[in-house]
Amino acid sequence: MTKPLVAILSGAGVSTDSGIPDYRGPNGLWRRDPEAEKLVTYDYYMGDPEIRRRSWRMRRENQALRAEPNAAHRAVAELERSGVPVRVITQNVDGLHQLAGMPARKVLELHGTARSVVCTRCKVRSPMDEALARIEAGEDDPPCLECGGILKSATVMFGEHLDPAVLGEAVAITKACHVFIAVGSSLQVQPAAGLAGLAADHGARLIIVNAEPTPYDEIADEVVREPIGTALPGLLRALSEEGA
Ligand code: ZN
Repeated sequence: MTKPLVAILSGAGVSTDSGIPDYRGPNGLWRRDPEAEKLVTYDYYMGDPEIRRRSWRMRRENQALRAEPNAAHRAVAELERSGVPVRVITQNVDGLHQLAGMPARKVLELHGTARSVVCTRCKVRSPMDEALARIEAGEDDPPCLECGGILKSATVMFGEHLDPAVLGEAVAITKACHVFIAVGSSLQVQPAAGLAGLAADHGARLIIVNAEPTPYDEIADEVVREPIGTALPGLLRALSEEGA
């Protein structure tokens, strides 16, 4: 018999122990600062070189790429290594699940990744590190080296659509999984939030790990309020021991 599939939806709360604040959530940094929000809003970014220069400076100054995975990321990777089929659907763009050891093909990044840049014209991708090195070397709005087009972070900016292929795969996993764990997500931003309801509709055991109440607590089989860094490793160990 194949082992039951565990889907883990991870939100900003999973990375706060790694020193990465909540940027995108309903009460996130972007939403509280309209000027900062412009730096990650597609039309402003594409239309205004000064916005782009500020956006690159912001990326150079923030330490997100230097963040390290924490106990929650490690626990997820450990569950996968133990032989339980695991898929991560993440709202985070920090790449910390993969750094902790999750195979990249088992991590769906709903909002893209801040570890790469993409050309808005020819779509070629390259590492964020290389773009930041160009900023460091004095370029303030580095163009695509292939075609001269405008480069942007490979994250889904406000005003951009999610990748339909990634979203489609997330929906398929959500429908197929036996356990769905929503961790560190306010479950207020679509479409991620709707996945929790979809999992429950398809008969998955729904577990929510979040400091604050979410709109899906009532339909969850289990709600955990303890800090993620301690609660998630314990929860995943228990799942692994019961063969998930
Ligand atoms: Zn290009």
